[in-house]
Amino acid sequence: MTDPQYIGRFAPSPSGELHFGSLIAALGSYLQARAHQGQWLVRIEDIDPPREVPGAAQTILRQLEHYGLRWDGEVMWQSQRHDAYREALAWLRKQDLSYYCTCTRSRIQQIGGFYDGHCRTLNHGPENAAMRLVQTHPVLSFEDRLRGRLIADENLAREDFIIHRRDGLFAYNLAVVVDDNQQGVTEIVRGADLIEPTVRQISLYQQFGWRVPDYVHLPLALNEQGNKLSKQNHAPALPAGDPRPVLIAALSFLNQPVISHWQDLSLEALLNEAVENWALAKVPLIMQTNTSFSNAAH
Ligand code: GLU
Ligand code: ZN
Repeated sequence: MTDPQYIGRFAPSPSGELHFGSLIAALGSYLQARAHQGQWLVRIEDIDPPREVPGAAQTILRQLEHYGLRWDGEVMWQSQRHDAYREALAWLRKQDLSYYCTCTRSRIQQIGGFYDGHCRTLNHGPENAAMRLVQTHPVLSFEDRLRGRLIADENLAREDFIIHRRDGLFAYNLAVVVDDNQQGVTEIVRGADLIEPTVRQISLYQQFGWRVPDYVHLPLALNEQGNKLSKQNHAPALPAGDPRPVLIAALSFLNQPVISHWQDLSLEALLNEAVENWALAKVPLIMQTNTSFSNAAH
């Protein structure tokens, strides 16, 4: 399993503090990278200022440190990467692989929710328009290293999706691909909520002629109502006290071997043991209600 070329990452959006659900993604990607003796990078995805919470990015970095999750190299900030996104967009433009679209959300709703390529040949200018990719390489399925082959919704896979938003912001799918490629990420380990956009991201790699990374989508933590833990539904922030019981709960969520003597271990020793024990194949596929965490936190 040792692969010194391995590069993994954790890429949080600073729309709030880390909660138990985001710790699963952080810890799972960390363990997978360390078990390969590879690198683990952190990238702050601050490309959407309206959704940003002031101070959240620094809080996230402090939380990662508090939980002993040390990253390699410098943190990458998407807010510093606009030139790279512009360059990628200009390249697609030059290849005739993009076009401006002025369609409204309500028009797209009326035609069933997926875009029909209406503006492809209309030669709109940039005023008040989004930019879409000409989808010439739809990806209809992909191999998830944990879940096996995942089949995409065909409408989603074939859609000319947005790469530059009408409000001037760069689209997540564009930024994430440009950055993961720039950072040389070889495997993306993240939450199952990001399974859907994966085929779009792979199609972008193919358009650019870049090496497609491997993918692992971890199970999502649910709250007692069965909803995904998220900033939107007010998942509690990670406790600031002893990180060890929370890590133990996260390891148990990921169905990893029990570390029964954790109370005798330093944070560092606990994480080292978790790296040694790490078995991706044991990670459950389905979402779970996260009761162990409430026990650990209280
Ligand atoms: N920034 C995204 C999020 O917090 C994750 C991006 C990714 O892992 O691909 O949901
Ligand atoms: Zn249009």
